[in-house]
Amino acid sequence: MHSSITIVGASLAGVRAAEALRSEGFKGNIKLLGDEAHIAYDRPPLSKSFLEGEMTSEKLSLLTTEKINELELEIRIDSRVSSLDIESRTLEVKGGVEEFDALIIATGARARKLPNTEKISGIHTLRSLDDSIKIRDSFKSGNPKVVVVGGGFIGCEVAATASALGIEVTIVESQEVPLSHVLGEEAGKVISELHTNNGVQLKCGVEVQEIRGDSQVEGVLLGDGTLLEADLVIVGIGAVPNTEWLENSGLTIENGVCCDQTCLAAPNIVAAGDVARWYHRGYGKSIRLEHWDNAAEQGKHAALRLLQTEAEAQPYAPIPWFWSDQFDRKIQLAGISDPEDDFEVIVDSPEEGRYTAIYGNEGRLKAVLGINRPRHVMQFKSLMENKASWKEALDFAREIK
Ligand SMILES: Cc1cc2nc3c(=O)[nH]c(=O)nc-3n(C[C@H](O)[C@H](O)[C@H](O)COP(=O)(O)OP(=O)(O)OC[C@H]3O[C@@H](n4cnc5c(N)ncnc54)[C@H](O)[C@@H]3O)c2cc1C
Repeated sequence: MHSSITIVGASLAGVRAAEALRSEGFKGNIKLLGDEAHIAYDRPPLSKSFLEGEMTSEKLSLLTTEKINELELEIRIDSRVSSLDIESRTLEVKGGVEEFDALIIATGARARKLPNTEKISGIHTLRSLDDSIKIRDSFKSGNPKVVVVGGGFIGCEVAATASALGIEVTIVESQEVPLSHVLGEEAGKVISELHTNNGVQLKCGVEVQEIRGDSQVEGVLLGDGTLLEADLVIVGIGAVPNTEWLENSGLTIENGVCCDQTCLAAPNIVAAGDVARWYHRGYGKSIRLEHWDNAAEQGKHAALRLLQTEAEAQPYAPIPWFWSDQFDRKIQLAGISDPEDDFEVIVDSPEEGRYTAIYGNEGRLKAVLGINRPRHVMQFKSLMENKASWKEALDFAREIK
């Protein structure tokens, strides 16, 4: 049994890991090391209610002082870990070298940036509390013209929040239909219409060619020659897993920390959350997810793995699930969809803002998309958990139509 467990990354996966260790009766020391200046907080509101100004930063907190005491956590913020040495079981932490007994890697991901834009102010990415505070403050200053680069889930959420605040906002997206690489064209169009109906301008099928402005952003030049005026540019072009500190560690890093089906990256070392790429037995391949629910569940699973023997270890093979709030819609996707999948719309009720569609492949139900339809999402998710065939899913769809 380990006498102490160190967790690198003090966010959702790390906190859930610490909680799981204590509820499983782990009595040793738990050290939680994070590089941010804030104690662990929740990210989803950063593009939604917090950005809109409805929520205080205290409400985002994942750990209160009472909770830290109850869990007997040794928590350190502003403590970046810069390298791992597996052989000597040491970490290079800001301020010195520290030994560990067992290790949980939970360093998440960071927002991808547009190259060569560091010197221009008014260009932001959104990953951290500090990012969200900066964007929120800029939303409040005057009446800024906002361009969102990238029509993925975060970009769409930021655009929806800005628009709800009465701010003029344009999304620039290189695909013809936002989110079509995940949801397919037909469902992607449902989301685009939601935005255009709520006053968001969409410029699709075109790339950003240049950001205009010397010290302060003034505009965004697109590949088709359009110049969009901009006081504020928010870049939402995906995330990169934080693995640089592990580069010479000997762990396998391939767009994430590679783990086996139980979340083990090496003996006594596990990974969880946005940084982890693990072998998902159900899909027969390695995957990495950037979903809140996965970070929470995998944090627990990976932590418990450290307390188990090889024979006791369980595979981690959940049906992935996430949500996105845009305007008055709760968009949820369970499973893994592919634009090439069979696709069936089950509910399409624009006046009520309700939509359900399912995705299938090789005779199996693969995913469900719901807009303001949480019950359908959970019903089809449970069919996926029971390995339902595409035919069974269609039969069930007929029953609930
Ligand atoms: C704006 C926003 C909105 C989102 N909305 C949704 C949503 O609606 N639905 C949904 O399902 N998901 C959403 N997500 C995704 C969800 O928040 C993430 O999946 C989740 O935060 C991942 O948790 P994590 O603990 O794995 O990583 P992170 O939350 O990324 O935390 C990793 C932590 O490790 C720290 N760290 C990194 N490197 C080091 C190092 N070397 N040393 C020490 N510390 C380090 C990081 O600074 C960070 O604090 C959203 C994400 C963002 C950014």
